[in-house]
Amino acid sequence: MKYLGIKPQKIRVGVFDFTGCEGCQLQLANKEDSLLDFLSLLEVVNFREVSSHRGQDYDIALVEGSISRDDEIERLKDIRAQAKVLVAIGSCACFGGVNNLKNHYPLKDVVKEVYGDRHIETSEVKRVGDVVKVDMQIPGCPVSKSEVENIIVSIVTGAEVKIPKYPVCVECKQKLNTCVVDLGEICLGPITRAGCGAVCPTGKVGCLGCRGPAEDANYDSLMEILQAKGHSKAAIEERLRFFNAFSGELKNES
Ligand code: SF4
Ligand code: SF4
Ligand code: SF4
Repeated sequence: MKYLGIKPQKIRVGVFDFTGCEGCQLQLANKEDSLLDFLSLLEVVNFREVSSHRGQDYDIALVEGSISRDDEIERLKDIRAQAKVLVAIGSCACFGGVNNLKNHYPLKDVVKEVYGDRHIETSEVKRVGDVVKVDMQIPGCPVSKSEVENIIVSIVTGAEVKIPKYPVCVECKQKLNTCVVDLGEICLGPITRAGCGAVCPTGKVGCLGCRGPAEDANYDSLMEILQAKGHSKAAIEERLRFFNAFSGELKNES
């Protein structure tokens, strides 16, 4: 596409994976219906899941996964040094994600349980933001593909980046769902940032909080309501720990 006969320079994007299941990258790679429009704005120069090209001249780095080995720290710092904008994508990158559960046990016990006597390099799980400066976080396990695309297009065009601040309950109520708390489930929807379309409660499963805290989340009130419904504090805290997205609040509790 040309404007006034001049071919505009595309923004170069690199997608990088660290410790995770690569589900967030798959979300981007699978987006055939909007992929061509998306790529008309961008040039993807480094994305292991879709291309063997390994360009190092990217402007925006999308980083998936948490950091769980020393060599990952060095690689992440190199990516940060190159990128003008670094975006953490997915709950692993933003919060540590499910990988962070291993931090609750002695590292040597985890290694023994999972790998037996095999030598394996692994360390405590860190968020991407624990290692380098992060310009933006797009949470979710996995991320919402349309949300990532909308945010990247907003960054490229200088438009305001919109990510919901209100809780999952808003989207859940818009879908006229029966509240799963009334069905005896623990649900973190009242304190979790919306944007997923309340997919878990719509499927009759309580929200696990993969998108992290909503603005002005009222933890005390949720704790009170869930405990009044018969759930133990330990069970609620276990749910809050699942993605490590509420670690700040759990620190305040202890
Ligand atoms: S956030 Fe979820 S989908 Fe994305 S890499 Fe981590 S575990 Fe996989
Ligand atoms: S099911 Fe969960 S997200 Fe839906 S209204 Fe109830 S508490 Fe909120
Ligand atoms: S309902 Fe909760 S756990 Fe499920 S996708 Fe949405 S934010 Fe994540």
